[in-house]
Amino acid sequence: MTEPLFPLLRIARLRMEVDGEGVTTLVAGAGCPLACRWCLNAAVLREKPTPVTAQALYDRVRIDDLYFRATGGGVTFGGGESLLHAAFLQAFRKRCGDAWRIYAETSLHVPRALVASAAETVDGFIIDIKDMNPEIYRRYTGADARLVRENLAFLLENVGPERLLVRVPLIPECNTQADCDESERLLRQMGVTRIERFSYIRREVVSS
Ligand code: SF4
Repeated sequence: MTEPLFPLLRIARLRMEVDGEGVTTLVAGAGCPLACRWCLNAAVLREKPTPVTAQALYDRVRIDDLYFRATGGGVTFGGGESLLHAAFLQAFRKRCGDAWRIYAETSLHVPRALVASAAETVDGFIIDIKDMNPEIYRRYTGADARLVRENLAFLLENVGPERLLVRVPLIPECNTQADCDESERLLRQMGVTRIERFSYIRREVVSS
């Protein structure tokens, strides 16, 4: 079988409690099935990635092995859509062993097989749910929300709510606080227990 490669864009070290427990290293990869209107990663995603093997990535990130072990941290895969690289996540888990935690940042807008594969590998999913209203979701991402809801239900049933952190964003010009309240209500109704509310900040807003 061909060895899976990861399309590496960026590595950010020594992150504390921002995308997983303890000290984490964020590993960003190329590729995303969505086209979000205010994608903060759009420029990065257009860059040419460097394909790396699990061993090569391990060699790059193991400098923080002691921090990972001491704090219960590890490596967070983001992007882009990390679950597009589920086979790589499995290969990386084999390489790094069980001492590090592995997290996956995801929109869950991927085929079920990838979600199921990742569920066997990662310690936690950090899910950017966008909005639970299908019309708002389509307006913002250009895609159908049903796949996301079905994959979330699958994870709730198969890995349990404690391994899922669901982020509910307030999105400029797309949804309101009331929409976020409704998304949170629907998520709790499904069985989600760990929810984080936040606001997207558009670059134009930041620089003005
Ligand atoms: S899911 Fe994330 S990376 Fe993909 S288009 Fe949307 S904001 Fe960008």
